[in-house]
Amino acid sequence: MNKLICVVCGMEINDKNYDFNKEGFITSNHIDNIDTCPFCGANKEYLVQGGKAIEFGDSGKLDSTTLKIIDHAVKLEIFNGDFYKKASKIAKDEKVKKVFEALSRIEYMHARIHKKIGGFTEDPVLREMDYSKYNSDEILLEMACKREKHAVEYYEKYSSVVEDKNIKSIFKALSMVEEEHIQLTDKGQTL
Ligand SMILES: [Zn+2]
Repeated sequence: MNKLICVVCGMEINDKNYDFNKEGFITSNHIDNIDTCPFCGANKEYLVQGGKAIEFGDSGKLDSTTLKIIDHAVKLEIFNGDFYKKASKIAKDEKVKKVFEALSRIEYMHARIHKKIGGFTEDPVLREMDYSKYNSDEILLEMACKREKHAVEYYEKYSSVVEDKNIKSIFKALSMVEEEHIQLTDKGQTL
């Protein structure tokens, strides 16, 4: 296969990693047909042969509103990544576990993308959460689905507030990924 670069997360997609995180996607990549970035989930239009990650220039030039939006996006994605990591341990069904593990890695990648945009070098310290009360896979999926809807709302709301066109484009790409996660965590589909 031809190597592709995901311009959203900057990762190279090749014949060794094209099906990484496959449980986190509705349609799987085939070696001859790559639909999504296995790392951040961005769709085909962001995967470019010989491409280069979108550059964000000097984060010091971003206005304070944009920086606040990006800072919150980092927290939102880490919060969700942490949730999926814990949920994958609580879940009983093997398939649900696998889906949560993949989603956890994808959300952490989204946080990494935002950190790069904002020029943040450290992970925020978030409150330690206890999800053990979510004692069935149905509840975990329901909670997951709620988070994904919130994430989509966040990206949609703030993509009209930020002025930087590259950031708008990233928000659009990630919003589509979270849309897919809504479908994936819809109980009817997964269980
Ligand atoms: Zn990517």
